[in-house]
Amino acid sequence: MSENKNSSVVANEKIDEAKLANATKIIRELQKELPEYIDKGCGPFLAAIYDADGKLIAKSANTVMDEGCSHNHAEMNAIKLAEKKLKTYDLSPYNLSMYVTSEPCMMCIGGIMWSGIKSVYYGVPSERVTEITGFDEGFKNGWLREFKRRGITVYGPIETPRDEKVLKNYVSEGHTVYNPGEA
Ligand SMILES: [Zn+2]
Repeated sequence: MSENKNSSVVANEKIDEAKLANATKIIRELQKELPEYIDKGCGPFLAAIYDADGKLIAKSANTVMDEGCSHNHAEMNAIKLAEKKLKTYDLSPYNLSMYVTSEPCMMCIGGIMWSGIKSVYYGVPSERVTEITGFDEGFKNGWLREFKRRGITVYGPIETPRDEKVLKNYVSEGHTVYNPGEA
């Protein structure tokens, strides 16, 4: 694990400043766009997948509520779109990176592992998502280490203040926070 001198970012490889700068730019854009998706009825999370040349392959928000499917987290949707576009269930030959406004939950970590995505860059850490919103992000001890073992790099948290504000607004504006087993 390495830590960035100038921020709270942690990575499971030696931090590459160019990759971090690029990820910060993309995550900042996603954070800016996210409120538009929330206005359309999406959950407060947005994920994008880019190839190594910086070309956008897929982007999606969380559509659990509007599509009525508990799998439809932003990351899972983006993976589904990328696999459809590239006509494959194995994204590993494409050297793809995922950028997401909040740390992936336990389901999405599994989804990312099975997809062949090579790098993950995330915004708000799960503890903060849970504290701010009440969404249960799950248990996932040591996932950075496990991803490293599988050749998947992870950087985060990146540029969180704006997205924490989006999450706070999501709650204060009375949008739904769903968890299984709740009425
Ligand atoms: Zn998720």
